[in-house]
Amino acid sequence: MAGLCAAAHARALGAAPVVYEKGTRAGGSMLLSSCVIWRFREWEDFRAECPTGDERLQRTVWENLDDGIAWLESLGAPVVRHETGNPRTIGKRFDPRGMTEALAAAAGDIRLTTTTEEPDILATGGFQGDPQLVREHIHPGAGLRLRANPWSAGDGLRNALARGAELSVGLDEFYGRNMPDADFREEQFVPLAQLYGRVARVCNERGEEFFEGEVSWSENDLVQATAQQPGALAWYLLDDAALADEDVAQRVAHAGTRTDPGDLPFAAPEGTRVAVRVKPGITHTIGGLRIDEHARAAEGLYAAGADAGGISTGGYASGLAAALVFGRIAVESALGSL
Ligand SMILES: Cc1cc2nc3c(=O)[nH]c(=O)nc-3n(C[C@H](O)[C@H](O)[C@H](O)COP(=O)(O)OP(=O)(O)OC[C@H]3O[C@@H](n4cnc5c(N)ncnc54)[C@H](O)[C@@H]3O)c2cc1C
Repeated sequence: MAGLCAAAHARALGAAPVVYEKGTRAGGSMLLSSCVIWRFREWEDFRAECPTGDERLQRTVWENLDDGIAWLESLGAPVVRHETGNPRTIGKRFDPRGMTEALAAAAGDIRLTTTTEEPDILATGGFQGDPQLVREHIHPGAGLRLRANPWSAGDGLRNALARGAELSVGLDEFYGRNMPDADFREEQFVPLAQLYGRVARVCNERGEEFFEGEVSWSENDLVQATAQQPGALAWYLLDDAALADEDVAQRVAHAGTRTDPGDLPFAAPEGTRVAVRVKPGITHTIGGLRIDEHARAAEGLYAAGADAGGISTGGYASGLAAALVFGRIAVESALGSL
């Protein structure tokens, strides 16, 4: 997302950018996403929900997102819905394929299955695809499943650190969804997300209820807590009241790790009708390179998207929004300094 936005904006500013794309197609994780690009409606909510994020970077996203969304629409990116469906947030849902096509057409020169060691702007999408970096920074109880494009494996991080960049806060944080602990395909990333932890009793493999307090609306806090459990596993235990919600019942029905209470490795609490064994699917890292509000990571080097960390630290905010805003800013900074 960030790389395509940067290139599209650069071309409009009269430059001749080249997008080096390691993957076999353009669009990265954006193409696989639900494509809701959003910000918190109130600035105070952003600060409260992501309290340890860099305030200057958050302010930059918050103030520039609406312009960014209008720019996407001006390029012909198709809007599916003009609101997010969440009263706390404001934004639009785009069609991910249509948006990839619109951005790719505006970006121009995209070289698939190629990369470069000397980029001006890094937009490689984070380090979730490298199990060793995930182990080193996130310290999960066991390996996590990948719920993202397979190519974002920390190349940007390594490149920038070698060029004098520094790390942001929040290196141990990530955004993801608890998924059935079984293999799944890209087209199942969204429908198989077990996004009902708030109505389940949540236990680890030993039967301990490990999550204290209320699960947040995004459930990202529960997902990250699950990653720290033995085996990076949790059991969602559902009673009749939880299963009365049709969406919950459907997701449970399609989860391959649905289990009878009698087959659990611990005694199920009374009233449990069914259990689902879940494991975090990591979508993108939240920590990464430290950038300033001009997207500068080091002398003559800029970073955007999930390569740039410390924006939604302490909570969760739209990764697409940050990629859109800082992708465009990175180009303006790079062209200004070339
Ligand atoms: C199922 C799913 C649902 C999601 N839903 C939403 C949502 O509704 N709203 C939201 O805000 N976010 C959502 N996201 C997250 C969102 O997709 C990411 O935050 C966003 O794509 C990050 O942008 P990016 O540019 O950093 O990374 P990407 O969009 O992943 O792009 C990174 C690109 O870099 C390429 N690359 C990697 N290494 C190299 C290299 N060395 N050289 C060249 N190219 C390289 C990759 O192949 C990829 O194309 C979702 C993600 C998924 C998977």
